[in-house]
Amino acid sequence: MSLFDKYAPLQSRVDMMMKIGKDALGVQFDDILSATKGRVGNREILLAGTNNYLGLTFDEDCMAAAKDAVTRHGTGTTGSRVANGSYHEHIDLENALAEHLGMPSCVVFTTGYQTNLAAIAGLAGDKDIIFMDADAHACIIDGTRLTGASTIRFRHNSPEDLDKRLRRQGEIEGGNALVVIEGMYSMFGDIAPVDEFVDVTHRHGGYLYIDEAHSYGVFGPTGCGIAEEQGVLDKIDFISGTFSKSLASVGGFCASKHPEFEITRKVMRPYMFTASATPSNICAARAAVEKVKTGAHLRQNLKDRAAQLHAGLAAMDYDLCAEPSPVIAVRRPNEAVAAMEWNALIESGVYVNLAVPPGTPQSSSLLRISLSAAHTEEDINQIIKAFGDLKTNQASMMQSMMTKMQ
Ligand code: PMP
Repeated sequence: MSLFDKYAPLQSRVDMMMKIGKDALGVQFDDILSATKGRVGNREILLAGTNNYLGLTFDEDCMAAAKDAVTRHGTGTTGSRVANGSYHEHIDLENALAEHLGMPSCVVFTTGYQTNLAAIAGLAGDKDIIFMDADAHACIIDGTRLTGASTIRFRHNSPEDLDKRLRRQGEIEGGNALVVIEGMYSMFGDIAPVDEFVDVTHRHGGYLYIDEAHSYGVFGPTGCGIAEEQGVLDKIDFISGTFSKSLASVGGFCASKHPEFEITRKVMRPYMFTASATPSNICAARAAVEKVKTGAHLRQNLKDRAAQLHAGLAAMDYDLCAEPSPVIAVRRPNEAVAAMEWNALIESGVYVNLAVPPGTPQSSSLLRISLSAAHTEEDINQIIKAFGDLKTNQASMMQSMMTKMQ
């Protein structure tokens, strides 16, 4: 009996993928050439699975800010903000995000993952109850595991089901309800009815926490996210987000309309016991916040490209998981077919994400595309053509897959 025996079923899934082609969950890029182009071996690849929604990773001002930060402050912070102090750039970025979101308090974290871990566990105590959407991201689930609070899941994107569960729960003795949702969901690209969640949550006296990781920068007149798009930004209790998507960096934030949120800096373990974000990450994100605020043209291009791709794939009868949004997920019949097609897409120069259970809603096997404002109309045509070729070559690909898997 070895420590690794429990991974035998997983190992056989990985072996199956390796027989079909590359390990789609461990791709190595040999070069990244721009926000939308990379290289694998000798092949130039169109990047359509990066979450680089505004295409800012190669923005000149963001790159200049990161380089300047390294020149002035070096490469690392070497410790946590609690034990080793904050750089003034951490605080400047918190102030800029707080001002953008119109909230008095904002805390910056080292990653988006740690943001949800820290804030959810920091907010919900033993007597509180967390009500969480059934499709919540792993870091929200993990955040609930760091607290003594009990957790109740409600049906995905269903304010009615939340209402029923809050009603059934009744008065929470000595505690509060913390409702956690996301703006745009990362796997299907579907959007939450945040305005309805605000009504239901507040009617029952609860607090609403929304993770706008995939929607900050992308939605709303000034890019604040889905809550801004639906006109309820000022009613949200807590907004979290990440720097790794629209903000083209690494890190995360949680902002609140409650100034008392500041006290949680003294208890949030994933804030206190890990090194703070590097100067280059913070300064790149700070420059990107300015781009978000004035980025209506980027958001428009992203929206247009999403509509173009959605229409092109729908015209070929692909099973798409949601209405047009910057994440377009194509449902495939099973993991093996999805892996085979993922390899064929790479061969034709298009990188998308292979998303398979258990990380997907409804145990779906998906080819997940995430678009960028830097994509052109021609780029989208290339993706549509690559998906068209999958249909044309279906029979021969299936035969070759069967042979490989024997
Ligand atoms: N929240 C959601 C909804 C996410 O999809 C992710 C990661 N994709 C995160 C938080 C974590 O962000 P990061 O990868 O920047 O740590």
